Amino acid sequence: MSTPWHILGAGSLGTLWATRLARADVPVRLIVRDATRLQAYQAAGGLTLVEHGEAQLYPVPGETADSDEPIRRLLVACKAYDAEKAVARLAHRLTSDAELILLQNGLGSQDAVATQVPQARCIFASSTEGAFRDGDWRVVFAGHGYTWLGDAGHPVAPIWLEDLSAAGIPHEWSTDILTRLWRKLALNCAINPLTVLHECRNGGLQQHHCEVATLCAELTELLERCGQPAAAENLREEVERVIQATAANFSSMYQDVANQRRTEISYLLGHACKVASRHQLNLPHLNQLQQRLIAHLRSLGLPSD
Ligand code: NAP
Repeated sequence: MSTPWHILGAGSLGTLWATRLARADVPVRLIVRDATRLQAYQAAGGLTLVEHGEAQLYPVPGETADSDEPIRRLLVACKAYDAEKAVARLAHRLTSDAELILLQNGLGSQDAVATQVPQARCIFASSTEGAFRDGDWRVVFAGHGYTWLGDAGHPVAPIWLEDLSAAGIPHEWSTDILTRLWRKLALNCAINPLTVLHECRNGGLQQHHCEVATLCAELTELLERCGQPAAAENLREEVERVIQATAANFSSMYQDVANQRRTEISYLLGHACKVASRHQLNLPHLNQLQQRLIAHLRSLGLPSD
């Protein structure tokens, strides 16, 4: 039998991956938070994926971190702020040749996870697929997209990419995954916090053209300083293109705040400001944006980290 995929986190992306792998007869195990969640999961009978308006139940076996089975292949599908702790609870189960696939948005959590499990190979991912939960253990596949995977320290692609092909998960092995993650982070920093502060859709930022341009200039400086010049190329033009192309959408950070959910600010804007300060780079507008966003989140009673 082929190596089982352990999926850590039964949220939107975890469910999207688990159900498609299971549908292709790839062995999958779902790791949930604790015994209470496991009981609730078992009562539901599996994970449900809603695609093109049709719901399909997949009875993927569930377990908690306390289960005994060794883990060779782990998809980490938690939010960035949960990843390090969630993986630490599984460290004792990882085999000496274990591989982790880290789906977290932004940067910072991947290195924190890798430090927890020095024996494992950590593969970073950047995804444009979209999904959301419309109930417990139930996910709607909302936006088709692509997932890039890569390992900054080791350019050879892993054998299990064939499982993704079998499961119909569109993907590509990327030799410049850090550049992709930095570029995505920069786009996020230029758009998402402003949509929260101005309480608008992405297209609303067309009214704040100068503010966006100033942020793009500082982000370009940051990317160049931290060894990511390719991620800096034509950043402002791409930000403007994204604002136009997604004018009717609410950004993910806007949606988190609107739904009173914790944001991933520390791994996005927070990470950019931290790296800038490490390089002794003075980026006043980016820092001010972070302060404004933190104050706004606090005023709403939401975590600001
Ligand atoms: P999500 O729906 O909130 O799911 C996260 C899951 O992790 C939840 O089910 C949560 O459990 C679980 N979890 C947290 N700590 C855990 C632990 N210790 N043990 C077991 N499970 C644990 O998040 P998501 O939207 O899938 O996002 C995951 C990452 O992908 C984020 O970094 C996000 O930015 C990125 N991303 C998401 C999308 C998307 O469309 N959703 C697209 C691109 C990138 P509970 O259910 O018990 O809370």
